[in-house]
Amino acid sequence: MFKVIGLDADDTLWENEIFYRRGRKLFNHLLSSYPVDVDVETFVHNLEIQNLDTYGYGAAGFVLSLIEAADALTKSRFSSQDTVRLIDHLKVMLSTKVQLLEGASGLVATLAEMHRLVLITKGDLRHQRLKVDDSGLAGYFERVEIVSEKSPDVYSRIIADCGIDPGDFLMVGNSLRSDILPVLEIDAWAIYVPNELTWSHETLEDLPLHEPRFAEAATLNDVPGLVEALEAQDE
Ligand SMILES: [Mg+2]
Repeated sequence: MFKVIGLDADDTLWENEIFYRRGRKLFNHLLSSYPVDVDVETFVHNLEIQNLDTYGYGAAGFVLSLIEAADALTKSRFSSQDTVRLIDHLKVMLSTKVQLLEGASGLVATLAEMHRLVLITKGDLRHQRLKVDDSGLAGYFERVEIVSEKSPDVYSRIIADCGIDPGDFLMVGNSLRSDILPVLEIDAWAIYVPNELTWSHETLEDLPLHEPRFAEAATLNDVPGLVEALEAQDE
């Protein structure tokens, strides 16, 4: 049996990407009043990725990148009123109540009956902490890990802090890049729960279908059954 199960939060347990998509929609709407002669999607995407090293993951870095892109794309004609509308959207992102995904609270309660649980999420420390508190799920987790990057080393550190071996750890999440591949790399287990709204940066990978320690769940409700199936396979 797995001794510890790690759960991702954003777009695994609660809505997240939807607020980024709304920000992009507002950005495109505001930008439509200006003449722009380059491919906006590509420009913004590249700038966001480039800025990750500086801002890390999270809403504030996202909106700062939009503001920087707006200035560059409009050759510094983007108005201060329009900039303030982007900042207002950031404030909405940072203050919106957590919206749990369907089946999330039931899943966490079910898994907690038989397993120690750890919440592992990346992003802005204060915002992620607020979301965890607001979710009402914090009590199910023995640890909440808010990290700046989900690398194999970070997972190894968390697993060691739990006092277990990688083979006794299972991660559940919606991002192949962050929740699945680095976990499989250190010989732990992973269940992928795809969310149709996942940032492209997190999905540009192939499914590790050849990997016996990997399973894909169609919905959160399918996760407990897959946990049991993987545990049976491990015996
Ligand atoms: Mg996620």
